[in-house]
Amino acid sequence: MRIFVYPGSFDPVTNGHLDIIDRAAKLCDKLIVAVLVNRSKAPAFTMEERVSFLEQVLSGRDNVEVIPFSGLLVDFMKKHNATTVIKGLRAVSDFEYEFQMALLNKNLDPEIETLFMMTNIKYSYLSSSAVKEIASYGGNIRDLVPEQIVDQIYEKLRKK
Ligand code: ADP
Repeated sequence: MRIFVYPGSFDPVTNGHLDIIDRAAKLCDKLIVAVLVNRSKAPAFTMEERVSFLEQVLSGRDNVEVIPFSGLLVDFMKKHNATTVIKGLRAVSDFEYEFQMALLNKNLDPEIETLFMMTNIKYSYLSSSAVKEIASYGGNIRDLVPEQIVDQIYEKLRKK
């Protein structure tokens, strides 16, 4: 069984993430969406909220599972018998960081491969930070995130 892992903070999940998830899920038997706990900057949404958004959006996709994770990605991979890390690339600016992470992970565990998927051109400008910024001023995020979570995002971020 081929198990892939797509790690990220998903703060919140966007249509760009969803596009990568759907495309990656076709390449494996099971895709684990690994939601990062430890990040230097505090997330806008709690772990529970980020996981809940993903679960609402991904319900019905039976080979995709959402699991929180902290610590080293290579340890998480081993624990879940996963072989491959999936990363999305939007622009050259994503490359340097992802290049370093892929090489570091390769060094920690040579068995693990990192697979990069190019963004869908429609979502090349899309990031969670942009969604948060726009939502906080009441701007339209309906084309940027899945419909099920639009109101929940406004609820939390819209400046009173
Ligand atoms: P962000 O960079 O939006 O804060 P994450 O840290 O949650 O998002 O990113 C998780 C993964 O998803 C990374 O591999 C990132 O490159 C990828 N990703 C994020 N947004 C997009 C997008 N619009 N198109 C393709 N990949 C994306």
